Amino acid sequence: MNEKLSNPQKTIEIIKKYDFVFQKKYGQNFLIDAHVLDKIIDAAEIGPDDFVLEIGPGIGTLTQYLAESAREVTAVEIDSHLIPILEETLQDYDNVTVLNEDILKVDMAELARQKNKGKPIKVVANLPYYITTPIIMGLFESHVPIDNITVMVQKEVAERMQVGPGTKDYGALSLAVQYYAKPYLAANVPPNCFIPRPKVGSAVIRLTKYQEPPVQVKDERLMFRLIRASFNQRRKTLQNSLSNSPELNITKAQTAEALEKMGLPAAVRGEKLTLEQFARLSDLLS
Ligand code: SAM
Repeated sequence: MNEKLSNPQKTIEIIKKYDFVFQKKYGQNFLIDAHVLDKIIDAAEIGPDDFVLEIGPGIGTLTQYLAESAREVTAVEIDSHLIPILEETLQDYDNVTVLNEDILKVDMAELARQKNKGKPIKVVANLPYYITTPIIMGLFESHVPIDNITVMVQKEVAERMQVGPGTKDYGALSLAVQYYAKPYLAANVPPNCFIPRPKVGSAVIRLTKYQEPPVQVKDERLMFRLIRASFNQRRKTLQNSLSNSPELNITKAQTAEALEKMGLPAAVRGEKLTLEQFARLSDLLS
């Protein structure tokens, strides 16, 4: 077996051999730290029966680790220049399929059906930062059967996923993640663990999907519309931000009445409400 890519010399050798040019628009920062790679595999709790979807394999660094731990891996990579490189770096593994596609256009539920008989899959990714939120939200909202999602994200994004009301990072992403999954911070990862070095710190976070959401709500779509409207205008009162939203048809008087029933001040801002309170507000307004 050849030297693994977690050895920085091997990564540099491959990049030179193929004259690979890093594409900023695809958020290409490749991992070169074996310790961090082990942490990702541990956090994702990958076992020999698992099917894993990897988003953005790059030159295959994390894919090599996944292939050694899982039953089968499908890796979806948008950059066609990386495909011949992946053919070389993954040649020792017969349980990996590489798809040259944009993950935002892949039918992930169909993939789970084909590769895992529709049973919950594990998703692992060192995500390009520009698509972190659409990918995670897409996975949760589109009813792809998921066990857990383990992702490397910008440190600030990891914080946003975990916080509650009363902090500046609290927002629509925090509420969405916490409605669907239990977040666990597995590691903080400094810039020197990547080639090239990103400008910001990163973190590995695992999101374990709930079987049942932690709060009951009659109309999930309405609740998320209320949440989006509140945080689109987070400095405004809830009464104003909901009545201003083109996605909703709610008057200030209706919000005022609901807030009174909930025992909340008339001038409260959405950023003060917990997930439970958004669920109750949604039920009162539905
Ligand atoms: N997994 C590798 C690693 O850890 O070293 C590479 C991670 S790099 C941060 C992100 C990878 O995602 C790049 O290879 C990039 O080309 C790929 N990528 C970016 N946008 C994508 C998309 N929409 N669909 C699939 N892959 C994408």
